[in-house]
Amino acid sequence: MRIVTGGFSHESNSLNPIITGEDDFVVSRGGEITGLSVFSRHSSAGIIQTLIRAGADVVPTVLARAVPNGVVSRTFYETLKNELLDRARRALAEGPVHGVCLALHGSMKVEGGLCAEGDLCLALREIFPAVPFTAALDMHATVTPDLLRTVDAFAGYKTAPHTDSFETGVLAAEMLRESLTGGKKLYTARVQIPMMIAGEKSETAAEPMASLIAACKELEKPAADRPAMLAASLLLGFPWADCEYNAVTVLVSAFEENSDTADREARKLAEEFWRRRGEFSFRTEHYNSKESMAAAYKAVLEKGERPVFVSDSGDNPTAGAAGDATELLEEILATPEQADRLPTPLLYSGFYDEPAAAACLKAGEGAELDITLGGNWDRLNGRKIPLRVKVKKIAPGFGPYHSDLALVSCRNILISITSKHIGFGDEKLLPALGINAADYCLVAVKLGYLEPCFRSIAARAIMATSRGCSNEVLETIPYRKVRRPIYPLDKDMEWHA
Ligand SMILES: [Zn+2]
Repeated sequence: MRIVTGGFSHESNSLNPIITGEDDFVVSRGGEITGLSVFSRHSSAGIIQTLIRAGADVVPTVLARAVPNGVVSRTFYETLKNELLDRARRALAEGPVHGVCLALHGSMKVEGGLCAEGDLCLALREIFPAVPFTAALDMHATVTPDLLRTVDAFAGYKTAPHTDSFETGVLAAEMLRESLTGGKKLYTARVQIPMMIAGEKSETAAEPMASLIAACKELEKPAADRPAMLAASLLLGFPWADCEYNAVTVLVSAFEENSDTADREARKLAEEFWRRRGEFSFRTEHYNSKESMAAAYKAVLEKGERPVFVSDSGDNPTAGAAGDATELLEEILATPEQADRLPTPLLYSGFYDEPAAAACLKAGEGAELDITLGGNWDRLNGRKIPLRVKVKKIAPGFGPYHSDLALVSCRNILISITSKHIGFGDEKLLPALGINAADYCLVAVKLGYLEPCFRSIAARAIMATSRGCSNEVLETIPYRKVRRPIYPLDKDMEWHA
């Protein structure tokens, strides 16, 4: 069997004014994708390794990935899509293609509001009208009519924070393989629930997601009254994009002969999800920025807790926010004498600020200079804060996106700055600046829930519900396109699957 694969991965935050372009993406092509799959834990690697092990001839096309950010440049998206389609057409010209299996995020949006994955899959379907087509999706996928019309079966992540990307790819590839070897058609039951949820309220280690995900896993095993479903997924959507398709989607993929069971089980899952809607809540203690800093100083200075983490959750680049909103920084700078009292510097990781990073790199380690921090992009929630800083450390060309890094100090505050929009969840970022976060008593970080590398060392985690493009209080976001009624914007609404 010969299978076409590839995919796009981007979570596009339509509240963020940055246009994500070519420089922000890492693009692999053809055999390069197969080579990368040996070391990667991405869903694409799960797909390719599974298909190769099954003896398939894999035809990799284009795999494009970028850190969540603002919507994607229309020109660049069209270029990527056309290249992927060209490679798919060439594969077909060279011999029969028996199936398509893609690694997608599901919430990539293009300038003008286009939902990228549905558009891409629709175009691929025109090239391959009759072969089985499966896809791996992020848990925060926004499932559109185009996606449902074109893809036969879906597998979504079952963990948040996401640790099962690879396994999700394996499942997407397995469904395709089973369909082809057994000669059975694929089917997906779908129920959309009019509901939006912030990621920070839906971690899978906590209720109600823990038991809802357990129910999905049960469905993938056979039971006395029904056969095993191929994949049961809860796709939560992405609330920081203003899109008419925002919803929670339950997808149960099965062989077509089991479509009635899939429909029934998808409805049951959706009813249960809706019944428990009131239980989705923040897992960590949370306050506004001012109260968060007060609680953090008290924890360190009076209770001796360390390290205490404060998430600047309204400006979380891993949820596509700009990374240059300044509410929390302004709060810290309003009472610098509090930071001065800390036994170690207050570590703030950090800011996406290209001009500030460039100025620090140019000045060099040890130099003192005047910079402004923040407010280049998110001018609604940030302004350029003038600071006199000392450059403590620089690290050019960090990581797969080749971002320059700088670490600067200002009184008893240390701040990391990136020249590219790469976020602050990468466990290698601070070590590249010679910093071990565990050595600091108070760490502010532009994240929502803490990534495992920080959670494992945090004596206490506080979430600041700060202002920014990933504002956690969805009720305060001025949506224009989201279909109403939708929970929790319309709290008293009724709904049945
Ligand atoms: Zn996600």
